Amino acid sequence: MEFATIAQLPKAASRVLVRLDLNVPLAGQEVADDFRIEAAVPTVRSLLARGLDLTLISHLGRPGGKPEPALSLRPVAAALSRQLGRPVEFLAGVPGDARYRDWRGSAGGSLALAENLRFDPGEEANQMDFAQRLAAGRQAFVQDAFGSLHRAHASTVAIARLLPSSAGPLLQAEVEALDRLLHDGSRPFGLAIGGAKMKDKLPLLRRLLPQVDLVLLGGALANTFLAASGKGVGQSLYEPGQLEVARELLAKWPGVIHLPTSVVVARGAAVEEVGVDAVPEDARIMDIGERTVEAWRPLVLELKRLFWNGPMGLYEQPPFDRGTRGLARLVGAMQGLSVVGGGDSLAAIRRLGLAQAVTHLSTGGGAALAYLQGDVLPGLRALEQG
Ligand code: ADP
Ligand code: MG
Repeated sequence: MEFATIAQLPKAASRVLVRLDLNVPLAGQEVADDFRIEAAVPTVRSLLARGLDLTLISHLGRPGGKPEPALSLRPVAAALSRQLGRPVEFLAGVPGDARYRDWRGSAGGSLALAENLRFDPGEEANQMDFAQRLAAGRQAFVQDAFGSLHRAHASTVAIARLLPSSAGPLLQAEVEALDRLLHDGSRPFGLAIGGAKMKDKLPLLRRLLPQVDLVLLGGALANTFLAASGKGVGQSLYEPGQLEVARELLAKWPGVIHLPTSVVVARGAAVEEVGVDAVPEDARIMDIGERTVEAWRPLVLELKRLFWNGPMGLYEQPPFDRGTRGLARLVGAMQGLSVVGGGDSLAAIRRLGLAQAVTHLSTGGGAALAYLQGDVLPGLRALEQG
């Protein structure tokens, strides 16, 4: 796919609308993790350096088409302002209202952040008249919210029909990293999949299995596969409805799919590592075991490409973060290209202080998975030239 870039913004455009992904986790009035804000800063800086007046737009959470004070972007404006070291005017109200329409930068290089796009029902409905209100008074559009492009919304699809549109640098970097991962051809190519959302991940697994040499399964996802291969999983979280699919994949790809050989189980307050053949009936599997990480070490170190989605255990509750930590350390020692995507995967890597261990941390969870599955992202198609 070919997109215009910000180098091709129309010369006459001085007031530019910029869609960012500032959908960050909040803790009350504070930003709990500012990774997405940090990732947006270079884009904002480079556009400001061109002397443009910028109106930044983003969604935050799921207010459901009406103002919801707890999901205001105001704290994000403050955090962005701190990171940029300059004021960010916050346009309270609803994006597209009179204040939004009439906002003028002072003298070039002005910056405003509009309130949460999803305060208006027109955003998620991909409504043309909402997009028209967003476009009012602006002369060009920059799309840089990779994480939102798998949804057809007013700020991802309708808007691109109204203003000359280009792909921002973060969007380009995300697409390049995922393309390189898919197409660079070096082998072995591995997948590490964990977490809990079996329904989201099975299609990815199915789609990528024919292309990869190795799949490491952890997290609650692995429990379903362990159960499918006849192991007792006690009281662990798993999906009985997916046993059939898991069995089919195991039968079709023996030697490619690697299940944990040992797991960390909890029984009341007692925590121990056991072999996967010895999970007690009253225990819950909480993490992959250290012996599993050791068994996987040579496999990971050999990889030329790896995509990792989903934590290996219940990482929010130490000591059940050790499997995720262990895998992250292996990935850090690997020579090839490593990409991590997924909301919780990202949070886990950041919380464990291991961000530098991987080549690329994707800001787009669902969008990255959809892209890797081969879906055409509506927000990308809207930007396509020609
Ligand atoms: P991502 O957001 O990276 O795609 P998911 O949302 O699918 O990942 O899964 C993340 C969740 O899975 C985390 O809350 C984590 O605690 C949970 N999880 C991982 N392993 C287990 C397990 N063995 N038992 C229960 N929950 C688990
Ligand atoms: Mg998640």
